[in-house]
Formats: sequence, structure tokens, C-alpha cells
Amino acid sequence: MISDSMRDSLNSQIDKEFYSSYFYLSIAAYFEEMSLLGMAKWMRVQAQEENAHGLIFFNYVLDRGGKVKLGALPEPPSSFKSPLDAFQKTLEHEEAVTASINKLMDQAIKERDHATRSLLDWFVDEQVEEEASVGAIVARLKLVGKDSNGLFSLDSELGTRVFTVPAPLQGKI
Ligand code: MG
Repeated sequence: MISDSMRDSLNSQIDKEFYSSYFYLSIAAYFEEMSLLGMAKWMRVQAQEENAHGLIFFNYVLDRGGKVKLGALPEPPSSFKSPLDAFQKTLEHEEAVTASINKLMDQAIKERDHATRSLLDWFVDEQVEEEASVGAIVARLKLVGKDSNGLFSLDSELGTRVFTVPAPLQGKI
């Protein structure tokens, strides 16, 4: 059993993960409108990953005998100044998610909730990867600048991304 306050914190993290999915789907639509189909695909895969993260927390709250309570999702931004702006907003968003995961970890440590800590270890590592991969894309978009050949080449590279079910969700969708 998890504490009531941990249950509430995890429920709010579920909302944040599903909002992330919604946010990236909105960015996918922006890229698709711009005919940057590789970046759109990358964002669609990102949205699927965030949905999976939401489900990992969802399953975990249920497994620990807690009640899942889904909240309302805010409206995500729908216009972006440029591909760089969209990826910069992605990076900022991931940094905010990292802060939120760290806060959950602080709570789990304080409550000596070892099971939640173990689950959060996976998310701590995941956030390192997320920030590194998005940070690299931001850096490359800055290098590309206004060079459309560079942009199209990065677009096709990002279009090769495929969704794989994250380990904690395998067999549990
Ligand atoms: Mg996530």
C-alpha cells in the first residue's frame, strides 16, 4: 500500500505524462502542417512514449492498491515560431518533467517508500536520455540555421525513430 500523499503525487504525475503526450501530439501536427514529416513522426513516437509513461504510473498506483484519479488536461500550445522553437519547447518541457520526477523521488526517500523509489529509478534514467536526445536535436537545429538541405536531412534522420514499448510496460499494456 502507498501513502495517501504518495498516491496523490503519483496521480498528478499520471496527468503530467498524459499531458506530455498531448503536447507532443500538438507539435506533431505543427510539423506535419509544415511538411516536415520526419520530425512529425519523431513527435508522434514521443507522444506514444509519454502515453506509455502515464500507463506505467497508472499500473503502479493500481498494483499498490491505490485509487487512480485522472484529472483534466490543459490545452497544449498549438503554434510554434520554427522547428527550433518547437524542439526548444520540448527541451524545456522535459526539464520540467525531470524536476517533477526528482520531487517524487525526494518524497519517496522521505517516506522510505522503497518500491516507489525503485520505479522512479527507471524514470530518473529515462529523463537523462530524454534531455540528452532532445538537447542534441536542439544543438543540430542551431547548426543547421536557415540551411534547408540541412533541415531536410535532419528531418529524414528523425523520421526513422520507431516506438518500442518501455521495459516497465512490457506485457502490461
Ligand atoms: Mg515522460
